[in-house]
Parts: sequence; C-alpha cells; structure tokens
Amino acid sequence: MEPTAEQQGPKEARSPQRAPAPWQALPVLSEQQSGAVELVPAYAAPVLDARQTSRLLREVSAVHPLPAQPHLKRVRPRCDTSGPRTLEMLLCLAGPAAGTRSLAELLPRPAVDPRGLGQPFLVLVPARPPLTRGQFEEARAHWPTSFHEDKQVTSALAGQLFSAQERAVMQSHMEQAVQAAQQAAARGLRAVGAVVVEPASGHVLATGHDCRGAASPLLHAVMVCVDLVAQGQGRGAHDLRPHPTCSFAVAPQAIWAGTVHKLDEDEDGLPYVCTGYDLYVTREPCAMCAMALVHSRIQRVFYGAPSPDGALGTRFRLHARPDLNHRFQVFRGILEDQCRWLDPDT
Ligand SMILES: [Zn+2]
Repeated sequence: MEPTAEQQGPKEARSPQRAPAPWQALPVLSEQQSGAVELVPAYAAPVLDARQTSRLLREVSAVHPLPAQPHLKRVRPRCDTSGPRTLEMLLCLAGPAAGTRSLAELLPRPAVDPRGLGQPFLVLVPARPPLTRGQFEEARAHWPTSFHEDKQVTSALAGQLFSAQERAVMQSHMEQAVQAAQQAAARGLRAVGAVVVEPASGHVLATGHDCRGAASPLLHAVMVCVDLVAQGQGRGAHDLRPHPTCSFAVAPQAIWAGTVHKLDEDEDGLPYVCTGYDLYVTREPCAMCAMALVHSRIQRVFYGAPSPDGALGTRFRLHARPDLNHRFQVFRGILEDQCRWLDPDT
C-alpha cells in the first residue's frame, strides 16, 4: 500500500504555525516566455486599390516570405479609422537603420507589380511568436499576430493548473522537505531539504537535506537526493549513513522494471537517474544543483522560495534553455511562507 497524501504525521514542534499560509504554485517560465515582446521595424504600405489585394499578397509574400515571422498576418485594417476603411500590407522587415524607402526599392520588378499600393511607411512588429496570452495581447497591439496558445501555460499563469487534490499532495511532499531542512538545522547543518517523488504513484524515492561539511563541500540537498535516488537503483557515490534523515526507497518494481526500456537512456543503456521524477526542495537550487537536475533528467521541480543565486528562475533559468538537451518544468511558491525562513541554496 502506498501512503496516502493525507496521512497525518506529527507536526514539527518547531513549526512556527500549524495551519500553512495560503500558497500558489507559479510557473517559472523561460526567458522567452516571460520577457517583453521584442519589436523590429518593418515596412508596410496602404492598399489603395482593394481589388489588387490578393494578387499583391501573393507576389509580395513570394518575394519576402518572412520565414522567421510566421505569426505576422500580412494585412491589417488601417489603424486610422477617420478615413475610408482601407487595408495595410506588411511588405518586409527593415534593417535597424531603416529610412524612407520607395516601393521600387522594396519590391523588385517584375516579381511584384506594385499597382494598388501607396507609399511605404515604417511600423514596429513583434519579432517572435507570442508564447503567453499576455505577450499575445502586447504583440497584437502593434501588428495583427496569430497565437497558438499553450493551454497549460495559460492555466498555470492563472494559478489553475493543479486541482485541490494535487495541491494537497504537493503540500504534503513539501512539508516533508521542510521537515528534512529543520532536521538539518537541528544538526547544525544548512537548513535545506528536498524530496524526490515518483509522481504517478506518489512514492517518495528519496528524502535528503544539506550535508555539506569541510570534507564534503558539494553535498547540497539536491546533490544528496540525486545520489540517494541512484542508491535506490543500486548506484550512487556518497556514504550518507551518518545522516539518518537522508534515506531512499527503491522505486516500485512495476515502474522501475516495466518501463526502463521506454525511458530516456544514457550510454550504458540505463535510464538517467531522475527520469520522470519530481523534486520538491525548500529553496531554489544553485547553479550546480540545477545543472545536476538537467543531467539527471528530472521532470518537474517545485520549490518554496527563491535563492539569491538561484538557477531556476532568479539568476538563471537552466531548466528552460534551448541550448541544453533537457528541459523541465519548474514551479515556485509551494509553502513559500515556511520555506522563506529556511536557508537559501548557495
Ligand atoms: Zn546547490
């Protein structure tokens, strides 16, 4: 039998409050997702003869296909609504030092017959497709933009991604990480705690805290947990027996044996240590720990409060880099009030 998420353990005597403050899991998006919309100058021209619109659209698009801007619509109603209702057509992107150009300079003949177009003008357009609804609203204020909404990101940003039941499970795992951090503090170690969970079963595979000392300066809570998960797989490198809170469990047989061949595998044919698993950690991991999570192929990370040098949101977003070969989801804010008083991972 799996322990249920609602299972009530004795509350930590040191816990400053019995009822946890309300918390919200907020997604830590990539820099591209969370940044402002980047605008680039482009040339557009009014369509003076509406009957030429489809021909012009075809000829201009063939000459200037804008392959990096598939989100930009080519035609928009004229912004100035005082005059007759006319259209404006996007012709091409402009360089950074763009000045006034004539139709003849922008549209080579005979590929484009510019009949029906008015004098070109400069306009700012969004350089990249919007990734969030907020970016979409901002982008289309400049030029009509298409948007393929990532429903998961939208509901995550609205705080609606997790059901009440999922939130209860998340809270229980984070409470376990908080307890591990408090036990570390009681032993004179840095108060950072972490738990690794197999999300489908809720099975806790590793519980650990920061164990660093003079002889082992790299034993941050996340490094301890990754090693503990590896120990549960018959691997691992560190002797963590002096730290009774740091413990591991072997993954349920069905999960471990049955799905190995489907999992992401390393060069030995073994799955990466944390493939498919969730990590709960009291405070945001440092760069070393975050990179260890990239290497071990964690699936999702939940942390309580940021760390000043954190690498999953604060200083870097190592979980969402297009130039690294593994990306994962990160949510912050789980039991943030309790976690904020614990040590940062530095
Ligand atoms: Zn660390």
